[in-house]
Parts: sequence; structure tokens; C-alpha cells
Amino acid sequence: MEPIAFIDTEIEPKTGRIADIGGVSENGRTFHSSSISGFVSFLRGSRFLCGHNLLHHDMNYIRQAVQSAGIPSSRMIDTLHLSALLFPAKPYHKLVKDDKLQTEELNNPLNDAIKAKELFFDEIAAFRKTSPALKLIFHSLLHDQKEFAAFFQYVGYVGLPVNPVEAIRREFRLRICDHVDLAHLIQQNPIELAYCLALIYAGHKTSITPPWIIKSFPAVQGIMYVLRGKPCYRACGYCDAQLDSRKGLKRLFGYDAYRSYAGQPLQEDAVNAAIAGKSLLAVFPTGGGKSITFQVPALMSGESVRGLTVVISPLQSLMKDQVDNLEKQGITEAVTVNGLLDPIERAKSLERVENGSASILYIAPESLRSKTIERLLLGRNVVRFVIDEAHCFSSWGQDFRVDYLYIGDFIKSLQDKKNLADGIPVSCFTATAKMKVIEDIQTYFREKLSIEMSVFSSSASRTNLHYQVFERATDEEKYNTVRELLECKPCPTILYVSRTKRADELALRLSNDGYPAKSYHGKMEKHVKTSHQDAFMKGDVQIMVATSAFGMGVDKKDVGMVIHYDISDSLENYVQEAGRAGRDEAIFCRLLCVV
Ligand SMILES: [Zn+2]
Repeated sequence: MEPIAFIDTEIEPKTGRIADIGGVSENGRTFHSSSISGFVSFLRGSRFLCGHNLLHHDMNYIRQAVQSAGIPSSRMIDTLHLSALLFPAKPYHKLVKDDKLQTEELNNPLNDAIKAKELFFDEIAAFRKTSPALKLIFHSLLHDQKEFAAFFQYVGYVGLPVNPVEAIRREFRLRICDHVDLAHLIQQNPIELAYCLALIYAGHKTSITPPWIIKSFPAVQGIMYVLRGKPCYRACGYCDAQLDSRKGLKRLFGYDAYRSYAGQPLQEDAVNAAIAGKSLLAVFPTGGGKSITFQVPALMSGESVRGLTVVISPLQSLMKDQVDNLEKQGITEAVTVNGLLDPIERAKSLERVENGSASILYIAPESLRSKTIERLLLGRNVVRFVIDEAHCFSSWGQDFRVDYLYIGDFIKSLQDKKNLADGIPVSCFTATAKMKVIEDIQTYFREKLSIEMSVFSSSASRTNLHYQVFERATDEEKYNTVRELLECKPCPTILYVSRTKRADELALRLSNDGYPAKSYHGKMEKHVKTSHQDAFMKGDVQIMVATSAFGMGVDKKDVGMVIHYDISDSLENYVQEAGRAGRDEAIFCRLLCVV
């Protein structure tokens, strides 16, 4: 065996001075002291030097000692760089936790040197087991890179003259786009390309690029995208099978076709725009299939580039519903982190984002101020921000939320910290088709992030709604009509009123008359609102008497009737409120207006 020393240093963080050094040689000789001269004697005779993060950390402090011991700089082996290449699957390796060695004992460099030795021999074993074709590809990309050259020397692997472009195309057929410019990537980013290929080859659905690679080699994310996430729209085995929006819909949700609105294929168009990496603003009626429109591209990015889509919504109580609804369809890649979770649920969600088993994260806008969330997103390949209820950006309207104005700053700072060459795309969703609101959203993103949003807007028409108007002279007649309607069609019903007091009174009166009802309005205590909303959503009560404050984001498929006890304050609000009936197209629904 070639003489090789494994080392680790302990550096005082304030002074940058060496506090302690540990070392072990191939034949078990050990060193543990802070004496530099002793360290030089220990190293003498070694032909190679190895450590975990040796090149970019320890060498900054021990360069002179290594030189004095006569080990040339071309014989440095770094187990950190090798581990991401040779153990791309999750968990990377039992000894490695991201860029650190797993260690129980603090400040014992001898212990860490011994672990680095164990890891190194596991890496050699993993390299020997690598397929001959992949070995050749790794060698052709990395043999002259300082992070890897000495490893090939140590194991005595000299490779063969290969054309790496052809070798990669052959070995990765149907796993990467046929038309990606490999020659350019090989020349510009050989290490990043090798890391991507290692991950793709491993094929584990939930394996992700370790956070330290995302930080140290930010180009990895862009390369993964051109290899597997960017459709080429030419004859291509990979893109045809993996990046086609209809095949994605079928594979993930089992549906054959997207929904169209008045003959316009808006849902499919918006999904295709997202797959193409565009930023977009979708104006869909409430219940118009919004979730699928962002879930399909998000789940596809999870499959193709191990990407994370962050969904920002102000409606915390509905996030869990969305996650649960996906789970019912066998899709477990979504999690939520919000204020309504208990600490154990929260820790579980955070872990699932960190370890790559989640590809959709639902959070509230205020969560963007949390350092934990920021750290989490810095460690993942964030492929898109989806912003729900995007009319909350607009100061023109009652739903304006100041937390929304921070979203753009957050995205910008995340992009800067990740050193991304291209911005992260954004999808906005709203049910509000007011021109002023759409303009406000577009202006916000143009000014904050230089994003031009493509707009996908549906007309407000819904063909499954049936409208009926009743003329009644007195309040008493109105009330009796409501009772008759509830009697004729017992189903989840929303009764809209214009005043908070009337909401409470009417709910009470109906309950007393044998029609259990809850009320909902903006002046209620938050916990009362939540409990009333939950009771209605879960079906514990069938009737909700509410002001226009109720309904933003309400996704209850079986609402069979919406009654306007009072006239809405605008036609636009009326259409939105009416739209809360009959989400599920299979259900026959009626809309009634009592005047
Ligand atoms: Zn392609």
C-alpha cells in the first residue's frame, strides 16, 4: 500500500491558530499534538496526504508543514469531494453529515483523522464497484482537477482515451436531454457535471445534492436544470417522456386531460409555461383547478432535478388540507411548516425538506422572516416560488397584506446568497381579475426582481352554476325562503350577508329553528373564526352564514348552494362568492339570490 497520512486539525476560531492536530498513517501509526515539528516528523515518508475538507480548510493552516515533510501539493486527497461523487444516494455515507464527519466526541482531531481514513477506504471500495463506463466518465472529467487527481493516482486508475460527450450520451440515454450542450459543460464545469451525473446515475427518487455542494458549486443547480429540467422541444427521448405536461398529469394524478375554460386550455398553458421555466400570473376562478396547475410542474421538478417548490399562502389552516389531499392520491412529496403545527410535526416537516423527501413546501409569508426557513431554502435547489392569493400584493383592495411586500426582497436575497446566475421563477395565482390588481402584481415583480410575468386569465364563466333570483318584499319572507331552500336541498351551503351583526343573528336563528349553522365575519376572534371554518370544512355543520370575509381560498368541493341574503357590494365580489359553489363538476349546484 502506498504510504499515506490521514489528518485533521482543530483551529481556534478567533485567532485562526492551530489548537490541535490528529493524524494516523496507513499502517496505524498515530499522532495527536499541537507541535508543528512533531507533525512534520509524523508526515515524513508519506507519499499522499488525506483529510476531510483538506484542500479548502486544513491546508490553509498546515501548508508549510506539509511542504517541509516533502509531500507535493499534487498528492492531496479530499474525502469530502469524493464522498459526494461516490456516495450520491441518501444517506451519503454513514460517516458524513453534509460537509462534516459525523462525530460524537468534540474537538478530537485524532478521532476525525481515523474516521477520514475509514471513509477513504470505503470510497476506494465504492469506486471499484462503480460501473466501468461511469468510472471512465468520472476519470475523463476529473483526472486533472486538483480535488480528484491524486485519488486516481492513489488507486492506480489511468482510464482510457474516451470521447466524454459520446460516453455520457450513451450511458445517460433517456436520463438526460439528448440535445444538451455537453461539450460546453465538460469544458466549463467538469466537477459540477460529474456531481450531477453521479446523482442521476444513483437514480434514488429522494436523493438530493448536499447543501455544501449547493453552496460551494452553485452552478450544479443550473446544470441539473439543463440536463433534466429544461424541455428542448425537439425529438428527444428524455424530454418527450419526462417533461411533457400531459404525461406528467397522467403519471402523477391519473387524469387524461387538463381543464379548459370556455374552450381555452388555460390550465395546460399555465403548466407548460411553468415547465418552460417562465414566471406567470394565473387568474383562475376560485375552485378553477389552481392547485393542480402548480402541483404538476412542482412534482415534475422534484422528479427531474430534485427541486423544491415553495408555495406561499396566507391561509395556514388550508395548507394541511392540501398536503392531506395529495396524500390521499398517493403523493407524499408535500409538507407544510406553519404556526398551527406542534413542535414535533414542525420538526418532521423541516427534516423532510432537508433530506429531500419533500418537493413542495407550503409556508405562510411571515415564515420567510424565520432564519430556520432561510437556512432550509439555502440548502435546497429551490426551483420556483408559487404565491397564492396574489391579490394580497395589491394595495388596491381590502386583502392587502404587508407581509407580501417582503416576498420579493426575500427571493432576491436568497438568489444573491446562492450566487445564482438566473433568477428563481415565480408563479402567482389569484381569483381576482381586476385590471388594477393584475397591474400591481406585475409592477411589483418587474421592479423587485426584473421578472416579466406571462398572464393566464380565464373569463369568469362557470358552466356548472345555475343562477336563480327570488324577489321578496320583507325580511320575514326572505328568511322563510331561505328555510324552504335549505329544506329542498340539504347540502353544504354558504349564506352571504352584508353585515357582521346579521351573520351572527341569522346563524343563531337558523340553529334555533333546527338548521345548525355557524357564522363567520371579520370582527370575530381569530380562534372562533378558525373553529367555525373548520366545523364547516369538515362537515360538522352544513350551513355557514358569512360576510365576504369568508371564502378566500376556501376549497370545499361539495358546497352545493350559495345564497346571497344581501346583495354583494360589487359584481366582481358576487361572481367570486357565487364561484364557491360546486367545485366538483360532478355535483349539481344552484345559486340563489334573495333580494
Ligand atoms: Zn430534450
